[in-house]
Amino acid sequence: MANLRESLPSCFSFTEETDSVITGIISDEENLQETLACFERATRTSFVSWHTSLSEKSKPKRVLWSQQGEIIPGCMVPYTVDQSCVRCCSFGPKRPPKTVSSAESDESNKPSEGTGLQETDAKKSSKKVGCPAKLYWKKVTYYPDYDQLLDASRSLKELQMSRLKDDLDFGNPVSPSQCFIVELPLPPTHQFHNVSVQTAQPQSVQERRMAQLTSTNLSLDPSSTCHHAKVIHPGLPPQAIDRFGNPSTMSLVMLARMARQVAMATRGHDGRCFMETDRLREGHITFMAASQYNINSCAYEPEENKYPLHVTLTVGHVGRTSFSVVTDITLPSGHVMLTVINQIILIDPTTRRPTQLPDHWREHYGPLCVRKQPLIVPKQSPPDNATIGDLPYHRMTVAWSDTDDQHTNYTSYIRFALDALYPGLRKG
Ligand SMILES: [Zn+2]
Repeated sequence: MANLRESLPSCFSFTEETDSVITGIISDEENLQETLACFERATRTSFVSWHTSLSEKSKPKRVLWSQQGEIIPGCMVPYTVDQSCVRCCSFGPKRPPKTVSSAESDESNKPSEGTGLQETDAKKSSKKVGCPAKLYWKKVTYYPDYDQLLDASRSLKELQMSRLKDDLDFGNPVSPSQCFIVELPLPPTHQFHNVSVQTAQPQSVQERRMAQLTSTNLSLDPSSTCHHAKVIHPGLPPQAIDRFGNPSTMSLVMLARMARQVAMATRGHDGRCFMETDRLREGHITFMAASQYNINSCAYEPEENKYPLHVTLTVGHVGRTSFSVVTDITLPSGHVMLTVINQIILIDPTTRRPTQLPDHWREHYGPLCVRKQPLIVPKQSPPDNATIGDLPYHRMTVAWSDTDDQHTNYTSYIRFALDALYPGLRKG
């Protein structure tokens, strides 16, 4: 598996490799996530969280010896396990079988007349084939000052261990270090499904979208990183120019939106997507809380060449549960045509409530902010004289095409506002 080793990032230091597993050490959480993502990509497998133990600060932890020199090569060192995690192959343990009554089983023998919902359910459960492959990691605290050679005698180890215990009990400085011990299961551990073919074949909707966008000449500049992304855009389509000879507001809104989606789903030269939003969205959903668009006059100047466009993304503001992204669209003349600020909230899909951004993520992106404040747009109510009919009042129904996945898309609100504004101005 030499090729696999090469495809893993340098932050993963190998300690052991067998036919079924590669073991290694990783220094921090961020590198752990990067290694796991690289491993899944390289082996075309995916793993889902099965069990994570939470660290219990109140409970005294057992001090163990690392026996194989996996934490410090050639040495054993005392350590405690702070957290451990098991992830199963996505083709892993089967779900508990459904209890099927005889009437239902008759029903299921009928030719496929089921509703869409039942078909989706069947597809989901058929993916689980009981594959036993598991990925493990544990977060450990170790004490390098108390290490011993691998062949140290039992009495020497006991002496060293009691020295450590005394130092811990009396609050003496013990200079602990932390790391993650990771066990990555190799393709032969997978069973009942084909690792290289079956898991690689189905193209996700997201992958399909990105492939389509690339095919329309939208691409991430190779210099892009997770801190600063640049998307090369072929320019506004001809139908974006309205009957007054101006680029329509919605075409500018959609252009910024598509470019941002490319930056947030394509890996730059550091192997990461912009602000690692692809990883943030794993197990979460994101919600656009507020957007601000500043269109500059150069957008309306016919003399200004409008292709190709450079769309740059920078880290706006990083808060506890939300962050903002600043998107600038620059013309070949160097003039900025549009600046957008988007305030994005991370949502727990179960509670549908805002949830905290990961600490390591906030520590990483927090210092890169270009804005001091989050973008907050106060809630507004219609003026009283509009609701009683003294002023023009615009009523509308949200159409299917205004929504994405049962939710009104944030760009639709801009269109709703414009649709209300222009007739209102005409009526006075
Ligand atoms: Zn598997």
